[in-house]
Amino acid sequence: MMANEWVKGQMIYEGKAKRLFSVQDQPNRLIQEFKDSLTAFNALKKGSFEQKGKLNRDITSLVFRFLQKRGIESHRVADVGETEMLTEKLEMLKLEVVVRNILAGSTAKKFAFEEGTPLGKPLVEFYYKDDALADPFISDEQALMLKIVREQSELTEIKSIALKVNEGLREFFGAVGLELVDFKIELGRTSSGKTVLADEITPDSCRLWDKQTGERMDKDRFRRDLGNVKESYEEVARRLKERWEKQL
Ligand code: C5P
Repeated sequence: MMANEWVKGQMIYEGKAKRLFSVQDQPNRLIQEFKDSLTAFNALKKGSFEQKGKLNRDITSLVFRFLQKRGIESHRVADVGETEMLTEKLEMLKLEVVVRNILAGSTAKKFAFEEGTPLGKPLVEFYYKDDALADPFISDEQALMLKIVREQSELTEIKSIALKVNEGLREFFGAVGLELVDFKIELGRTSSGKTVLADEITPDSCRLWDKQTGERMDKDRFRRDLGNVKESYEEVARRLKERWEKQL
């Protein structure tokens, strides 16, 4: 069987916006399916729109391929079908890593800063990935106490990967007129112990503001009932695809 041939096996996980399936006879692979659903505020607010799964699969794929060119590895192996991605199976870290370039969202609220306050340098934050606890903010020492990682040096490595991802994303989104305000990534370990990027990078997981108009082009349109949610995701996908095809 060729490396990219696969037969979908059992569904092993269903989350708010994705489903994971095993791959027959390939224990080190998974199929990640992007759903059309959209949730906010830890799933208190629910919605969906047609084509969202495909748009987010395509955006994640373009972003992961761009980052790969900049030396940042992800779990992506290949796109399959309309809404799926063949991935390497990882041991996921129960961690959400947020990087902020401009203050917005929860951290702006927490410290009563105005949204849009630029940060002198990127701010990296860790959150514990646990829906039942609503993904609380955690310190480095709490990450060690929770045994998400064994040593401080792993957290240092994770921060360094997150900052490299930030540089890559700012370059790619910046080239298509989008300001990267903040984003969240998830990471996992390969069978050989390498820490790589996983999950997705999409307007669900990033704040993207149009550089010319200041318009929000991300999930805040859904969170804040701003309208044109689908149109914004389509526009992000269109711009990235056009840029990718021009070859970077
Ligand atoms: O809500 P907050 O301001 O902390 O979000 C920071 C960034 O991380 C935003 O781009 C948001 O979309 C993303 N995020 C996410 N999943 C979460 C929490 C935040 O994708 N569970």
